[in-house]
Amino acid sequence: MRPFTYERAADALAAVRAVSTTPGARFLAGGTNLLDLMKVDVEQPTHLVDVGRLPLAEIAETEDGGLRIGAMTTNSQVAGDPRVRARYPVLSQAIVAGGSQQLRNKARTGGNLLQRTRCPYFYDPSKPCNKRQPGAGCAALEGLNRSAAILGASRACIAAHPSDMAVAMVALGARVEALGPDGTRAAMPLADLHRLPGDTPHLETNLPRGALLTAVILPPPPEGGQVYMKARDRASYAGALVSVAVAGPGIALGAVALKPWRARKAETALAAGAAPAEAMAAELAEARGFGRNDFKIRLVARLAVAALDETSKGRGA
Ligand code: SF4
Repeated sequence: MRPFTYERAADALAAVRAVSTTPGARFLAGGTNLLDLMKVDVEQPTHLVDVGRLPLAEIAETEDGGLRIGAMTTNSQVAGDPRVRARYPVLSQAIVAGGSQQLRNKARTGGNLLQRTRCPYFYDPSKPCNKRQPGAGCAALEGLNRSAAILGASRACIAAHPSDMAVAMVALGARVEALGPDGTRAAMPLADLHRLPGDTPHLETNLPRGALLTAVILPPPPEGGQVYMKARDRASYAGALVSVAVAGPGIALGAVALKPWRARKAETALAAGAAPAEAMAAELAEARGFGRNDFKIRLVARLAVAALDETSKGRGA
């Protein structure tokens, strides 16, 4: 690991200013992803600004009947909150489906959303990767791409986003709040936070440099059932091959793109009376695999049909 300096932020604005004015600086919260990447020399920060103890760890009611989840809440805290479990079961289910208990105890809401892809070549500095080194090429195109995206990919990058939690939040129509370097707070739909790769896969979000995620805002719970389903290689501590979150009329797909994928076409088709299989066929009309991940197209369609069937029968919590 390379040498770096460290400071504990006194407040959120000081943290934002430190990161935005110090070349090579990064926020540190739970550290469950950043420290792993530093150990394999993929992340090389020169300065860490510890935001983990900022007073952003509350879950509070909003005036319209939703919840405001502070960015420094731990994943375990959110999954176990009685209000989340009762009103947003899809979110509890998604969080519990991710990582391990130890990781969920450390990982924070903001860090979960901003965690980086698990593409194996991204973690291997000896292999070409446009996300790690723009212009280097993409080893996954002709390599081990079983976990790769089937929607929204480009020749520059075919990686998928790994978060379970984000998929549920996107299905729920969550928004994120961020504090910018100029001290202003901005909000955007979570569905707009992450970027598709295009020609610039090293640019991962639409946040300005140095901005700090401060909260996730959940709207009031939707009418209808909620469920999160995840297909994976083993029953725990495994990333999704694909996942599906259904929250009332909202549907989102996980591990199919470099962002949590809001299935708008499927939602529209269902609202017009299409059967779930037809709706998913509409959503996946432009999906394509890269060889080893071709199976994901059928898998996510079948998983989504199962999830929609579960909620339509009222068995989704
Ligand atoms: Fe890098 Fe993306 Fe290619 Fe993986 S898929 S090697 S992250 S450019």
